[in-house]
Amino acid sequence: MNIYPEDANIFETSNTDDTSRPKVYIETYGCQMNVNDSEVVASILIGNGYSVTSDINQADIILINTCSIRENAETRVFGRLDLFGQIKKQKPSVLVGVLGCMAERLKDQLLEQKKVVDLVVGPDAYRELPVLIRAAEDGQKGVNVLLSREETYADISPVRLDKNGVSAFVSIMRGCNNMCSYCVVPYTRGAERSRDPHTIVKEVQELVNAGYREVTLLGQNVNSYHWVEQKGLIKHSVNFSDLLEMVALVDPRLRVRFSTSHPKDLTNEVLYTMAMYENICNHIHLPVQSGSTRILKLMNRKYTREDYLNRIEAIRSIIPDCSISTDIIAGFCTETEVDHDLTLSLMREVGFDFAYMFKYSERPNTKAARHLEDDVPEEVKTRRLMEIIELQGKLSEQSKQADVGKRFEVLVEGESKKSKDEFYGRTSQNKVVVFPKAGHKVGDFVYVEITDCTPATLMGKIVEE
Ligand code: SAM
Ligand code: SF4
Repeated sequence: MNIYPEDANIFETSNTDDTSRPKVYIETYGCQMNVNDSEVVASILIGNGYSVTSDINQADIILINTCSIRENAETRVFGRLDLFGQIKKQKPSVLVGVLGCMAERLKDQLLEQKKVVDLVVGPDAYRELPVLIRAAEDGQKGVNVLLSREETYADISPVRLDKNGVSAFVSIMRGCNNMCSYCVVPYTRGAERSRDPHTIVKEVQELVNAGYREVTLLGQNVNSYHWVEQKGLIKHSVNFSDLLEMVALVDPRLRVRFSTSHPKDLTNEVLYTMAMYENICNHIHLPVQSGSTRILKLMNRKYTREDYLNRIEAIRSIIPDCSISTDIIAGFCTETEVDHDLTLSLMREVGFDFAYMFKYSERPNTKAARHLEDDVPEEVKTRRLMEIIELQGKLSEQSKQADVGKRFEVLVEGESKKSKDEFYGRTSQNKVVVFPKAGHKVGDFVYVEITDCTPATLMGKIVEE
């Protein structure tokens, strides 16, 4: 049996050979923020005398960083905990810890029902991990799920999870204040708080010095980034556009990406900053969730279909070659066929380059769970999701077809999974390209002419600039 899941990130670092240090295995589910949080956790633990291993059988401590966004994400983690229970039977000294959103949401259930769990640590309590591990070693349960209004881990340099040393995530804020009615994030990750911009720039500079070529600035709603500092008698404030510029100026050869943008907060100022700096990538992830204004209101998204299309128009006019991706939820409470058709028609109108598509999953205690009935039958949700996926398949293919014959600057990110003679990388628009190596190396910027495409990937050849 393969004990490693395909849908999780497993931490790999080079310090696993240090036999004197207790070994921690970290498995991560969910969004990029969770991946970055695991990097923070690794940094804290390595700084406290632990080492990190990607071999679960070698581990003294097994940590699972979890996601609560949909029910199936949680079910997956419960399955993994059962497997960890089997490992613990063979090696009773192993400690098992649940980190992140599920720790926050299901602390009591985890402690009562899952005897295998020794540690339950919420997203704002990672600094406490060494203390909590010691408590667990003494036979107590190590628990801290307190949410904070200040914690941003600003001073911690994450140990990078990616293996190629080319692109890195940088969290610029934590939590969320938006209270979309379906979403559990404001409850599991707490209130929104922005990180000191100077610590962000410092981290980015360190990444550049270490050879990184791309950073992705992360937040649940990066466009509401807001930092105020006192300079003498004057208050100076930094918004997301300012921060983007500060990061772009660190090094003109560093690619800058960001995620996620909320349509209600994406300003023209941000779009002009993107247009002004060539190293800010021309890609915006702008989750729409639904094409029906009535459903958007029930979701508490605070924009209408028209507002969303207005933002798309602004992107197209200010950054003409910008790609746009989105998130869509099928079958939200009360959604009719008319609402669903509005989602399909909006998708066609925008022509999204890529989308993450989900069936609505009711999350306990959210506003939707408390006030709206989850009344779209499962088979209707499934059929609508299938229609959305099928349409997006066509749109994604069209978007790639339109690139055939064009030239793009591509950052070489790694060897293609299918051939040792080929690399893969991404265009500024975040589209994956596969091309023959032609004597280049990972981390190089190359010009690639697109010669063909599959529904998932562009294919090309390196050309002179
Ligand atoms: N903060 C980001 C935003 O607002 O766009 C993304 C947050 S969430 C991690 C990523 C996506 O999960 C959301 O955009 C939404 O499409 C989806 N999602 C969140 N809650 C969901 C739920 N209860 N059921 C199905 N999908 C959900
Ligand atoms: Fe959830 Fe909405 Fe916040 Fe995104 S903006 S994390 S969907 S509450």
